[in-house]
Amino acid sequence: MIIVLNAQVSTSGVTEIRPWIALGLLAFLLLWETVSPFFHFPKGRERVRHGFRNVLLGILNAVVTTLIFVGLWWSAAAWAESRSFGLLHWLSLPAWYAWPLAILLFDAWTYYWHRINHRIPFLWRFHRVHHSDPHMDVTTANRFHTGEIVMSSILRVPLIVLLGASIEQLALYELLMFAVVQFHHANISVSEKWDRALRLFIVTPYMHKVHHSRWQPETDSNYSSLLSIWDRLFRSFRINEKPETIRLGLDEFDRPADQTIPGLLRTPLANRKANRPRKP
Ligand SMILES: [Zn+2]
Repeated sequence: MIIVLNAQVSTSGVTEIRPWIALGLLAFLLLWETVSPFFHFPKGRERVRHGFRNVLLGILNAVVTTLIFVGLWWSAAAWAESRSFGLLHWLSLPAWYAWPLAILLFDAWTYYWHRINHRIPFLWRFHRVHHSDPHMDVTTANRFHTGEIVMSSILRVPLIVLLGASIEQLALYELLMFAVVQFHHANISVSEKWDRALRLFIVTPYMHKVHHSRWQPETDSNYSSLLSIWDRLFRSFRINEKPETIRLGLDEFDRPADQTIPGLLRTPLANRKANRPRKP
């Protein structure tokens, strides 16, 4: 869930159009949420404050990623390319197969990384910043602790080398994932029929609402980010037939001070006992 607003690499057209696609999609989904919200949502100043905090975290993460990691990823891809190292080089498939395979492999890693963020207590300390939002909307897609972004960015260096992926393949994966992640976080009303059809392929709003539930068996499900296949394949897929009954957020981080920027940045340090209801 890393958003690179202005990557240092200009070798790919994808990289140049990404900020515009991101802003256009954000504006479109904000409008959709306003016209046809799924959950009741705070209005006026409170909505602006909520969105501003989440987007500010996203901008901080984008700056850190762009300044520190994009160059490292580019070097890792160039190193693998110069030595024909990594799975995609060893397979030497035509581009028609290699690109979809690169997208699949990146997405499988994102699924695994997300899943261990829920399983390993140290990683959960950071990831709970994303889950503690009691009012999920499109801006929640940007709400990640910088520590989580730094850890996942570091792990991408060996991942790029082992996969033998190019920086253009990574840029395309990020663009697709970013678009779907914004879509499934948005507080929009999508018809059950459409959601059901779309979730055969991608993660949808109904599917991801379950992941943001306060009830732990639901929180610990639906880890996929772009393609929904991983949850089906690894038996973490879960649907709540009454999504309107889902309560979003984390009980242990409901205090107003927890929802401020300093509160969000301090969340990994907090020792709070999870006080989650046993039943929805
Ligand atoms: Zn999660």
